[in-house]
Amino acid sequence: MTYKAYLKPGKEESLKRFHPWVFSGAIARLEGKPQEGEVVDVYTSKSEFIAKGHWQIGSIAVRVLSFRQSEEIDARFWKHKLQIAYDMRRSIGIAGRPDNNTYRLVHGEGDNLPGLIIDIYAHTAVMQAHSAGMHLDRMAIAEALSEVMGDQIDNIYYKSETTLPFKADLYPENGFLHGGSNDNIATEYGLKFHIDWLKGQKTGFFVDQRENRALLERYAKGRSVLNMFCYTGGFSVYAMRGGAGLVHSVDSSAKAVDLTNQNVGLNFPGDSRHTAYAEDAFKYLERMDSDTYDLIVLDPPAFAKHRDALRNALQGYRKLNAKAFEKIKPGGILFTFSCSQAVSKDNFRTAVFTAAATTGRNVRILHQLTQPADHPVNIYHPEGEYLKGLVLYVE
Ligand code: SAH
Repeated sequence: MTYKAYLKPGKEESLKRFHPWVFSGAIARLEGKPQEGEVVDVYTSKSEFIAKGHWQIGSIAVRVLSFRQSEEIDARFWKHKLQIAYDMRRSIGIAGRPDNNTYRLVHGEGDNLPGLIIDIYAHTAVMQAHSAGMHLDRMAIAEALSEVMGDQIDNIYYKSETTLPFKADLYPENGFLHGGSNDNIATEYGLKFHIDWLKGQKTGFFVDQRENRALLERYAKGRSVLNMFCYTGGFSVYAMRGGAGLVHSVDSSAKAVDLTNQNVGLNFPGDSRHTAYAEDAFKYLERMDSDTYDLIVLDPPAFAKHRDALRNALQGYRKLNAKAFEKIKPGGILFTFSCSQAVSKDNFRTAVFTAAATTGRNVRILHQLTQPADHPVNIYHPEGEYLKGLVLYVE
């Protein structure tokens, strides 16, 4: 049967502008009793079809998959959507390069597939569901993925134990849906990385910093680099290839420090320029001597996971950046980021500006950074823009 959700009068406006979410408060009544994750058709208060998508209990009630009534959410649908995503990555030169097999194939709303993330690491795809619907459809999606990618991938690892709403009683288990290789070395712009999709954060790697790491490489020559919040050591490895004189990586997690050492060793075995420390960022920045580093990366975890945490988050960014401004060598370059979706570009820039002002140093913005093209923002869903970065020259 077809489930139908009827909107309250006027609540169709955002859908007319192709925004892909229907909030629960916008719904007047429901016809039928959809289970979480099933597809419902959405109608205006005047009973006109407007969209269809995955049903879920929560503030976002429907995640839109199609604005066309005739489009069925079936095997053909998944294959079509994944094909578009793959073709886009190939046409912009991110997929299919001999020196790069690490990229995001599907970026949720950015690829018109709300709730679905797929990252490609060499011959393995790591798939993550953030909605009940994508979880229920995982086998069909995996099937479509195998068809679209052909012999480009042998393995599909499903990793949704921590990304699904626990109230939905879905009991997702992490594991391979196809294949099952332990070969986890992938290449990003010619550099090799161990990807820990089993235990690592997100899908195992922060694919979204690729272009920003490549930019850092251009500034690394002869510099002393501090990579704060290093996780897998991505920025460190690029800094080393860029000719840094010294690279220090810091993360509070001992596991991250191990991963960083492994990845540095994979690319630059026995290179004495690198040392990694397991320590809290604030403690390290507090105790380190001024003028030790002339290139500092600050890429902290999302300080604000929700809107209500915004004030504390901004304070965190101010404190962190103020320490870097205070200690960086004259003529130093600071790469500073925020990946909190709740923190706007302006909020972040104001926090960094305020931090700079407390030290009184002359600071120039060299670059304003964001997420890369394989993490596209759906123009109808501006909330999809989440990564913000500034590259600053500190006199
Ligand atoms: N820059 C990384 C991604 C950083 S993710 C990359 O390019 O891949 C954020 C990291 O910050 C995580 O590895 C986490 O362990 C670390 N972290 C969280 N809180 C921290 C703290 N207080 N001090 C130092 N590291 C911290």
